[in-house]
Amino acid sequence: MGFFSWKTQDEGKTIPNQFSGLATYKVYMIDNKGNVWIEENYEGYGKFGGKDYYELLSEMNGDGPDRSRGIELAFPNFSSGGDHTEGVLYPNLFRWKEGNGTAEDWIKAYDPKGPESCEFQGYFYEQCERCGETYPDPQEYYSECPECGYDGTLDEEE
Ligand SMILES: [Zn+2]
Repeated sequence: MGFFSWKTQDEGKTIPNQFSGLATYKVYMIDNKGNVWIEENYEGYGKFGGKDYYELLSEMNGDGPDRSRGIELAFPNFSSGGDHTEGVLYPNLFRWKEGNGTAEDWIKAYDPKGPESCEFQGYFYEQCERCGETYPDPQEYYSECPECGYDGTLDEEE
């Protein structure tokens, strides 16, 4: 199974995994009842603080912690793209700083739509063809590599 990921709902930032070359950061996964799971170093397979996103989705919608059921609920029709299926409660993903967030705060912040998928799957960010550096902001266009200055023109043949 390949990597997958989302964007945080508060900042719209991609959640990179620990193999991607971008720094991971603390992510809060919440349900609609104020429960929180904290992930410090995302592995790329949908688990936050040891809890599977789709297992939690299944539970939030009245079924057991069944990952396949969660995926079924999230993607009732694969051609729809899967995000934001009407009437389904999605876990939420946030990047809030330490110290914020009582259960009431999280319940207030909760949005049933859930997060957007990350088109880079938390891993496939643009990298410099010359030095291999992963570019720091996946949303930005780089005319040259911040690390080595490579501007996309081919190196002279040796
Ligand atoms: Zn470079």
